[in-house]
Amino acid sequence: MAGINMRHIVKKYGDGFPAVNDVSIDVADGEFMILVGPSGCGKSTLLRMIVGLEDISGGDMIIGDRKVNDLAPRDRNLAMVFQNYALYPHLTVFENIAFPLRLAGASDSEVNTKVREASKTLELDEHLDRKPGNLSGGQRQRVAMGRAIVRDADAFLFDEPLSNLDAKLRGQMRTEISRLQKRLGITTVYVTHDQTEAMTLGDRVAVLKRGVLQQLASPRQLYANP
Ligand code: ADP
Ligand code: ADP
Repeated sequence: MAGINMRHIVKKYGDGFPAVNDVSIDVADGEFMILVGPSGCGKSTLLRMIVGLEDISGGDMIIGDRKVNDLAPRDRNLAMVFQNYALYPHLTVFENIAFPLRLAGASDSEVNTKVREASKTLELDEHLDRKPGNLSGGQRQRVAMGRAIVRDADAFLFDEPLSNLDAKLRGQMRTEISRLQKRLGITTVYVTHDQTEAMTLGDRVAVLKRGVLQQLASPRQLYANP
């Protein structure tokens, strides 16, 4: 586990107005941080700079005690959960969760132990032999999280993971993500444009507007001073 320190982060695409403009946010070890704001405010760009999918134009990105500006995504030890799950349809739930371990060359017994542990935490142990196509949206979401858990990542990063789900499932998944994050105590950064999600999920909420950090406070403080 590790905290994430964003120091004066800037992102410029071409000559236009910066997509992210001098943003500094310290995410404490184990903290659940929300990045919220309207479409185009720069929240996905910021998340992609944390994970390394986007180059940083200015500032420093520090994870734990390492400056990661120039590190490739695979060297940052982070786990990103995308909204489209990115599961492999031809693989079972077990093999989907096992995938990063296989890539890393883990032994069969290590794969077995870790996948069973993660699937227990996520209440997926009954479904290990099924394929993603036979799962509900919520179960698929949990498989995607299982894949993140087995990697022993330093932090979870979520990019609007619930936006394709219906309202009822979204509510359930919100509760599950919150519970899981608390149980694992893992540093989490979660991007959403949904105010309700922002106010119910996080320890703190960073509000972005046109690439600029407007507010950084707990949901309680934001309710008091909107
Ligand atoms: P959000 O996630 O809040 O919707 P984004 O981070 O996707 O916002 O985008 C922030 C700004 O950067 C927007 O103005 C968007 O058009 C611009 N942008 C995002 N990606 C690119 C890109 N690859 N090339 C040029 N401009 C981009
Ligand atoms: P948006 O911010 O508009 O929702 P996407 O989520 O489609 O954009 O993708 C954002 C960027 O992240 C893309 O440039 C893509 O290359 C990268 N990306 C998306 N999915 C993955 C993935 N599963 N693994 C690695 N990179 C990805």
